[in-house]
Amino acid sequence: MKRVLSFFVPGGILFLAANLGIHVHVFERHLDTLNTVYPYVTFIVCLLMGWRFNRSSLVFGVIVLASALWALLLYPDGRSLPGTGPFVVYHAVTLLLPVNLVVVSCMKERGIFTVHGGIRAGFIALQVLVLAMFVKIDPAVLFQFMQGVIPGKGWFPHMTLNQLALFLIGCSFAILLFGNIRNSGAKEHGFFWALATVLPVFGTALSIAESMFLFSTAGLILLVAMIEASYAMAFRDELTGLPARRALKEEMMKLSGNYTLAMVDIDHFKRFNDQHGHDVGDQVLRMVASRLAKISGGGKAFRYGGEEFTVVFPGRHSEHATEHLEQFRKEIASTGFAIRSLLRPRKKPTSTRKRKRPTKRVHLTLSVGVATKNDHLSSVQDVINAADKALYRAKKQGRNRVVA
Ligand code: GH3
Ligand code: MG
Ligand code: MG
Repeated sequence: MKRVLSFFVPGGILFLAANLGIHVHVFERHLDTLNTVYPYVTFIVCLLMGWRFNRSSLVFGVIVLASALWALLLYPDGRSLPGTGPFVVYHAVTLLLPVNLVVVSCMKERGIFTVHGGIRAGFIALQVLVLAMFVKIDPAVLFQFMQGVIPGKGWFPHMTLNQLALFLIGCSFAILLFGNIRNSGAKEHGFFWALATVLPVFGTALSIAESMFLFSTAGLILLVAMIEASYAMAFRDELTGLPARRALKEEMMKLSGNYTLAMVDIDHFKRFNDQHGHDVGDQVLRMVASRLAKISGGGKAFRYGGEEFTVVFPGRHSEHATEHLEQFRKEIASTGFAIRSLLRPRKKPTSTRKRKRPTKRVHLTLSVGVATKNDHLSSVQDVINAADKALYRAKKQGRNRVVA
């Protein structure tokens, strides 16, 4: 549910608002005035923020959007002048835009003013140059190619899109959607909604003012997505996906009234790493985290650092929290974890049948220290220290226990 919501908010809402907005009469009248600043401010802010946050996907995503918009502004009647240079530009943009957006969205962060960044910028510039060359020297060559993919009546004859562009847009959405399901990050959501926002420019005959507005909004969607992704990077722990220590500090500052806090520490984890390897250790940390995220009794889990987690029970007293933590501790101690073996079989399997990856079961125990905010423990740090001391006692008393 949370994942679905984060997919639609805010990208989907901006997409809907922009595409409905251009059809609202009152808004339409002010579009020209708005466009005297909106695209420039958006694109410049995107470039500046992308540079300062070192997010090359935002920088190149916006360069792609701005280049496509520029081409459309240069040749506003392109789509209705078959055989001419402007016509060729219009259709080339419909082909290149979705492909470029997908490529940029899939690229790893490799910097802007770096060799990788230079190659990427060069790749975009090359497309602009080649297209400009064809248009200036001999548009007929490209037009001939395009006639092959633009039959008079397409699958959607009322649309001003060519068949190949429809196919590429379909593929682009499929790839972006797949990226969304696999990674489900703000960046993936952003590129999906940015492409969706500019599509009506090509699918239906929109005016220049409407096109400018939609392209600028697509830039805005990428910008918001970048800010969200940076926030997630700072406040979420990368390995486990749990909120990190910084988020814990903020959460604690927001709490008014009483609460109970628990420090959860995996027993002998160093030994576990030595026995099973660091990668298996990482797998186990992820599994402990995902179970801890669902702890009963209203507890909210954080990764404090290393193999230590913190659980906060807002508005709850010690007995309540201890009961649920005890239940969690027992569950971990008794069920263990199924680990995917990271070892490859020594011999190549002779049968062609797909073999299940071998799994093994490992067992772990947890020690937990619990403290509740009261008159003696009034500051956040006091409560954390008290929980730490309780954890130390749990270790001293033999581990695998909850101590309040
Ligand atoms: P104790 O029962 O006293 O808590 O013993 P311990 O070995 O769990 O505690 P110690 O603090 O000595 O060691 C913690 C170990 O946790 C050290 C380190 O190898 C491991 N560890 C910390 N962070 C990670 C991580 O992100 N991944 C993996 N695989 N191991 C980690
Ligand atoms: Mg520890
Ligand atoms: Mg430990």
